[in-house]
Amino acid sequence: MIRDNLIRDNLVRDNLVRDNLVRDNLEIVFEGIGGACKRVGRVESEVTLIAVSKTQPVAMIEEAYRAGIRDFGENWVQELDEKVKLLPGDIRWHMIGHLQRNKVKHIIGKVYLVHGVDSLRLASEISKEALKKDTEVNILIEVNVAEEESKFGVRKEDVLELVRCIAVLPGICIKGLMTIPPYVDNQEKNRQIFSMLHQLAVDIGKENIDNVTMNVLSMGMTGDYQIAIEEGATYIRVGTGIFGDRVYSSE
Ligand SMILES: *Cc1c(COP(=O)(O)O)cnc(C)c1O
Repeated sequence: MIRDNLIRDNLVRDNLVRDNLVRDNLEIVFEGIGGACKRVGRVESEVTLIAVSKTQPVAMIEEAYRAGIRDFGENWVQELDEKVKLLPGDIRWHMIGHLQRNKVKHIIGKVYLVHGVDSLRLASEISKEALKKDTEVNILIEVNVAEEESKFGVRKEDVLELVRCIAVLPGICIKGLMTIPPYVDNQEKNRQIFSMLHQLAVDIGKENIDNVTMNVLSMGMTGDYQIAIEEGATYIRVGTGIFGDRVYSSE
């Protein structure tokens, strides 16, 4: 608690204004979610907002928490680890970054969902650590729909095969798919990527593989979450749209 308060005190001065900003931004995002749902006849409860809090201070996360947010996304294991210790226990932490195998042991039992699984080797490590801790880990398969060379994720053609291989591992449950589309100036350009991911989930769901459900689609960020919702997203991952720009330290 002392550390918590210290962190908060340090931030209070310059964040009083920004604190309100988080609440106001959330209102805008929820309006966007509502609008997108309405346009395609979906109900808002089908869509869960993950507040992507990477690089953002504890005080801002607390502000979002007070506004009712319970799902937060982080990209780096060490940062996640520190924030888990400082923040309320009912938060559902989402590991949305690329997870290295040697870091897996640090997050098992702490995270609610691992979004970026794209190899059997990583899944095997998760399975191994899950068994050690006598728990089950929910994961999403990351798909590189646009087949960008620089991106993590499996190619569309390889997803079903990977799902079959991971499905037999103990201590691991596949819940759906996740994608990070290319950066584009016009968000409409990514609509097709989202609809392809959706279709892929539907197709894999039809295979009725044990240990696999395809109910979760994690797609859409600040710039394109409304389009992602229109195309079937169940989780959207919004960072700057809630917390403002990220400041990266040089550590
Ligand atoms: C950082 C990040 C986000 C949030 O991006 P914004 O554009 O700030 O909303 C979403 N998903 C992933 C995987 C990220 O790394």
